[in-house]
Amino acid sequence: MKKKFWLVSLLFSVLLLVGCGRSTADQSVLKNAEASKTITWGVKGDVKLFGLIDVRDGQQKGFDVDMAKLITKKILGPKGKAIFVTTTSQSRIPLLKNGNVDAVIATMSITPERKKTIDFSHSYFDAGQSLLVPANSKIKSTRDLNGKTVIGVVGANSVQNIKAKAPKAKVIELQDYAQAMNALKSHQGDALTTDNGILYGLAVENPGYEVRGGTFTKEPYGVAVNKGQKSFTRAVDKAVLEIQHDGEYNQLIRKWFGDVPGFNYKELYRR
Ligand code: GLU
Repeated sequence: MKKKFWLVSLLFSVLLLVGCGRSTADQSVLKNAEASKTITWGVKGDVKLFGLIDVRDGQQKGFDVDMAKLITKKILGPKGKAIFVTTTSQSRIPLLKNGNVDAVIATMSITPERKKTIDFSHSYFDAGQSLLVPANSKIKSTRDLNGKTVIGVVGANSVQNIKAKAPKAKVIELQDYAQAMNALKSHQGDALTTDNGILYGLAVENPGYEVRGGTFTKEPYGVAVNKGQKSFTRAVDKAVLEIQHDGEYNQLIRKWFGDVPGFNYKELYRR
């Protein structure tokens, strides 16, 4: 009888502990953010228009960075502070999973593969994959890539996409977009491939290079959050919707993409 009692109470305590563990895991990111009034974001540091470190003040700047600041204020109020950690396409998921950042907003496409290990907010930006080539290149679209060398970035899904779309192209992968652009400029490849917005950012900085072939994939960007953080994901979703409804979103689109030659930024507007 006594033994049974101990067994039952042991089982009860274990269940209680498991239950508590779950609920803290579910609430911790949002709760910690509310307590510290800060959200730590993983953003790009080498992607003009989305997340680029300004050498004059060392700050990351771009559409993703501004979105992170707005989302932070919506969730935590006007005193809420956004802290930025620079990530690459390859390091963003490990940084998130290790808890170095609370969320990632870094030109990151929502894909079924990634959804197996992390969660995403609703999509906050519609990108699509394209090609960047020298202005005198004969490459007009992915159909012209047979036997050509295409440069991509490690950790970007653009690499898998181009292998599927142009199986006869040779694909090389570099660490980040700055290195990828340098490789294109030094003729180590015939084209650079990633999302159109990123390529337009590179074209702005590098006269003599053009974005070609329209978009051949859909790349909806999402805010990446760890699994088990439902309350935080919901808060991000709500914030993104508010930003879109009250017009701040379209203002940001105009701010970052309004002056980019050849980029139809009005297509990106959301109401
Ligand atoms: N959107 C693509 C991705 O999530 C390419 C851009 C990037 O490398 O961040 O992989």
